Amino acid sequence: MELKKVAEGKTKIVYEYSSSYYLLRFKDSITAGDGARKDEMSGKGTLNARTSAVFFKLLEENSIKTHFVGVYDDNTLIVKRLKMIPVEVVLRNIATGSIVKRLPIKEGEVFDPPIVEFFLKDDLRHDPLLNYSHLRYFKLLTKEEAERIEEVMMKVNVVMRKFLEEKGLILYDFKLEFGKDENGELIIGDEITLDSMRVRDKDNRIYDKDLYRRGEALEVVRKAYEDFLNIISR
Ligand code: 5GP
Repeated sequence: MELKKVAEGKTKIVYEYSSSYYLLRFKDSITAGDGARKDEMSGKGTLNARTSAVFFKLLEENSIKTHFVGVYDDNTLIVKRLKMIPVEVVLRNIATGSIVKRLPIKEGEVFDPPIVEFFLKDDLRHDPLLNYSHLRYFKLLTKEEAERIEEVMMKVNVVMRKFLEEKGLILYDFKLEFGKDENGELIIGDEITLDSMRVRDKDNRIYDKDLYRRGEALEVVRKAYEDFLNIISR
């Protein structure tokens, strides 16, 4: 059966599936610098589809709503149709990445409570930071919706942190994207993978896409993604 493509991004393709569901296919592409660097890493689509399924199931088990319905094939998930909001929501437990470049904050500083930030999905402008006024001006989210999303981010953090902690892993930060279902309810969409979170172990081994961002060989990146999936699947 020929699947009708609805949308394609740097690392995923959305296809029509049924009147309520889409298929979300994970590609083998890996990118950094808002698409400035791009490679093919064989097996990555499967690794990221499986990693996402583990985390979506974990959230659903903890009564947090996501678009996850089930697994379609090795690199494809069945997901609920959502109208996605073009905003990346980031929660940070430990300072690294863009925040230490943007603000006078030292690498490794611990945020208690965690910091939540909103960014516009706009590669050309390198995903600029948004405040509540910007979110309202662009008709992306009302203040109430933004606050609701912050609550969900905190809840997700508690669940994911505990899950990873029990496996000897430390969750530095993660990014989620939200969409609205047919009732206008805000639900977690997109992916939850090593492309969208930072995880290290107690010995400071990096498992996530920072390896690729730092220029490590694709074999090293793939091994980290594989090891991580094995750890979280145990
Ligand atoms: P930072 O703002 O420090 O670059 O990223 C914070 C967190 O959000 C990291 O876990 C990073 O992987 C994730 N993140 C930020 N921007 C993007 C993006 O454009 N795509 C993906 N997949 N993740 C992102």
